[in-house]
Amino acid sequence: MSGTVLVTGIGELVTCAGPDGGAPVADRSLPADQRLGVVRDAAVVVADGLVAWVGPASQAPAADRALDVGGRAVVPGFVDSHSHLVFAGDRSAEFAARMAGTPYDGGGIGVSVTATRAAGDDELRALLAARVAEARALGTTTLEVKSGYGLTVEDELRSLRLAREVTDETTFLGAHVVPPEARADRDGYLDLVTGRMLAACAPLARWVDVFCEPNSPHAFTGEEARRVLLAGRDAGLGLRVHGNQLGPGPGARLAVDLGAASVDHCTFLDDADVDDLAGAADTTVATLLPGVEFSTRMPYPDARRLVDAGVSLALASDCNPGTCNTASMPFVIALAVRELRMTAAEALVAATVGGARALRREDVGRVAVGSRADLAVLDAPGHEHLAYRPGMPIARALEVS
Ligand SMILES: [Zn+2]
Repeated sequence: MSGTVLVTGIGELVTCAGPDGGAPVADRSLPADQRLGVVRDAAVVVADGLVAWVGPASQAPAADRALDVGGRAVVPGFVDSHSHLVFAGDRSAEFAARMAGTPYDGGGIGVSVTATRAAGDDELRALLAARVAEARALGTTTLEVKSGYGLTVEDELRSLRLAREVTDETTFLGAHVVPPEARADRDGYLDLVTGRMLAACAPLARWVDVFCEPNSPHAFTGEEARRVLLAGRDAGLGLRVHGNQLGPGPGARLAVDLGAASVDHCTFLDDADVDDLAGAADTTVATLLPGVEFSTRMPYPDARRLVDAGVSLALASDCNPGTCNTASMPFVIALAVRELRMTAAEALVAATVGGARALRREDVGRVAVGSRADLAVLDAPGHEHLAYRPGMPIARALEVS
């Protein structure tokens, strides 16, 4: 249906267009509502999928249709800037073993590679579509999706082709792990990833990513990761890094050094890493993935240290079959508040405009004139309920069409 739509009856509209949404460190002396850009008893006018007007409902202009949300809170749709949704197979037994004490070292990724290679296109497409629908049902309106469970030219290409059917934010992750068949020849595999595989995959990807983790024998060292990222940059791709997940390492430093859009995990950072990230806050976002620590029983990243240092932060799901099989951004927000000691406002900003920044997007993550009309409605009077009611399905993407 075309024409303008007046979304009204919004008890609390969090626009994330206030100072907190505009800079990594906002003026903390301002009232929280002002920092978040909260409008009470608000309305939003949507035209052609874009926000055309935002303000108090009492001042709203006329529109062709009205959609009354009955006093609920509305927030920007969540921007999940890190997910691995193209996979087949089930690793619940590995999860159960981990809960019983088996440590995680990245080795289980090979199990998903085997299952994903064996799956048919239609099966993989259906699995992906179901996961995207689950995320959307919980308020996610922008999703980054990585390859990385194919690890042959054909299988990586297929993963990206399928990912492209559901999002423009596709990431080539041929350097997820060294696949089992290439263990004896790491250099040969890196030649493939930075050569023929990259050349085939680059047209279907916006980003290149690498699992930089010297603490895992399956992942890549700093020097190997640099090689992958430089090749990706030469192929026209933006840079993302999995770094500092399992222990101290060169990932964060490398991301800052190469001007990557994001370094993700950031669980084990030393003071120099934090200084580097703070100094690069306009370029490189530190994306925290606390669902992983929850599901692996690892220590959580020190979000307060990063907030206080002025690091640009995002929160994302890292939904994947091994270390975090949930794409629920409300769950991630609840963890961020409960376990990472972020405020409800900080967590919401990181899950919306922070994710947008990690994807170098200006058109999503906030509710402002000209931005995409990606809204999430909460069955709640305020955004604090995202953390206050963990596990309850109170957020969903608002269908405005
Ligand atoms: Zn990941």
